[in-house]
Amino acid sequence: MMIAPIDTPRMTLDGLKQEALADLALLGYPNAPWLNDLPRPDAADVADVIIVGGGQSGITIAAALKWDGLRHIRVLDSCAPGAEGPWLTFARMEELRTPKTQVGNEFNVVNLSVRRWFETRYGHQAWADLSRIPRTDWKAYLDWYADVFEIAITNHCEVLNVAPQGDLIAVTTRMGGRIETSLARTVVLATGYDGAGVWRVPPFISAALSPDRFDHTNGPVDFDALKGLRVGVLGHGASAFDNAIKALEAGAAAVDLCFRRARLPRTNPHRAVETPGMMTHYPDLSENIRWDIARFFRSADQPPPVRSFETAMSLENFRLRPATPWLEVSQQADAIHVTTSDGVLEFDHLLLATGMDVDLAVRPELRTIHDKVALWGERYTPQDGSEDARLARFPYLDGFYGFIPKDPGDAWVSRVFAFNSSSFVSHGPHSTSISGHKHAVPRLVRGVLRRLLLDREAVILPELKAYISADLPIPDDFEMVLAEANRQPERSPETGKPAMRSGA
Ligand SMILES: Cc1cc2nc3c(=O)[nH]c(=O)nc-3n(C[C@H](O)[C@H](O)[C@H](O)COP(=O)(O)OP(=O)(O)OC[C@H]3O[C@@H](n4cnc5c(N)ncnc54)[C@H](O)[C@@H]3O)c2cc1C
Repeated sequence: MMIAPIDTPRMTLDGLKQEALADLALLGYPNAPWLNDLPRPDAADVADVIIVGGGQSGITIAAALKWDGLRHIRVLDSCAPGAEGPWLTFARMEELRTPKTQVGNEFNVVNLSVRRWFETRYGHQAWADLSRIPRTDWKAYLDWYADVFEIAITNHCEVLNVAPQGDLIAVTTRMGGRIETSLARTVVLATGYDGAGVWRVPPFISAALSPDRFDHTNGPVDFDALKGLRVGVLGHGASAFDNAIKALEAGAAAVDLCFRRARLPRTNPHRAVETPGMMTHYPDLSENIRWDIARFFRSADQPPPVRSFETAMSLENFRLRPATPWLEVSQQADAIHVTTSDGVLEFDHLLLATGMDVDLAVRPELRTIHDKVALWGERYTPQDGSEDARLARFPYLDGFYGFIPKDPGDAWVSRVFAFNSSSFVSHGPHSTSISGHKHAVPRLVRGVLRRLLLDREAVILPELKAYISADLPIPDDFEMVLAEANRQPERSPETGKPAMRSGA
């Protein structure tokens, strides 16, 4: 979707940046630094926090921590500059699902909001006319937001491991073939939707076909190569529809979108949990209800976004096939044969909108930590009939997104915070999304600051005693001068009362 920027803007985006910075200054941004360097020769190289992932969560967390006076914050991302998050890669929809009125990462600062950004770029009328925020504009807004807070992302930097090193965390990275280790007091994993595992390809499909005959819809897809082909899509979520549309736009001969359900979901239950109460205090809910909510969200899917659904349905050669589970897949000479309850369908290529497998062990950055953190399956015994092997594999996080050690001897794991999809059972379905940020980011920030404060417990009192900062502007010898004055009071010849001395 192309919206023309306004010809004669009242203000440029740079002007808006200055207004946002002025607002921030009025609100005390940034707080004075309060965390002293560690007493070690390489102190300047030890980060207060390393944030893995420079998507919308990583930059919002960095901004909040900067606001709270941290100085040594590093944000690392494996992707190229400007490609952070899904927005310009595998998110293929025209516009966001999130309602345009939803506030998120702007910390209640109007001049930081996407609405003000959009109106500055395109005008007030364009905002009024907008149904949802266009995907590419959302990413452009996030880049502007990172610029306002001067968050420099280290790109092309893949985090390969986080492991203990004394009282610190060693973060191993690969950048351009070079392997390095950096030290941090805390680490935040803002690694996104697949941060708890990998995109899932059903084994009966990967076992039957060569890898060039299928793609996961949340990965790279060579749509040009689908020209003239019959494409089968499995799944009914947003990315199933968006990939179907892209395939047909690229010239696919036909696309059949198949799913097991007899009917598409109509209601989006996610909207029902986006209340301030739920979003702010979710981790205070009992284990039973959090488990049952997670189970509910596993079974009650979201419907596809309206626009994606309507666009797909309007395209010639698009076929929607409810109640069509794929039972078996095989590669035949002429085509891929997909056996369904409704007969055999023939395709040339498959697109799989089949979600994610939860498996901490497959994530490179969790190589050392994955078997040291408490999981829901170990901490919680589901009531009869509500067992769920997938949910059991999610980490059992503390109230601030910190990992909890399986063995108390591995206390270092609580310096690592999982602000990604692995927080689903502990913190609810919305932490990293736009609707989650307003409530979830402060919880994470409290956790990081709490950890950094607790580390300093031994030095708090000595520092308090050594603290010098004059509030009262009087000289050091004030009391001496005062004593002298009190000893020999001069009397006013007129009144007979003590005369005030200058300086006292
Ligand atoms: C089709 C689609 C539509 C969506 N629509 C919406 C919507 O309307 N509203 C909404 O709120 N959300 C939407 N989402 C969800 C969206 O993905 C999240 O809200 C958002 O991306 C979360 O931001 P994040 O920063 O937590 O993670 P991400 O944006 O995924 O960013 C994670 C970053 O971590 C980096 N990373 C991961 N692992 C490593 C590593 N080991 N080393 C270095 N870097 C690493 C990645 O490169 C990535 O840049 C949509 C997603 C998709 C796919």
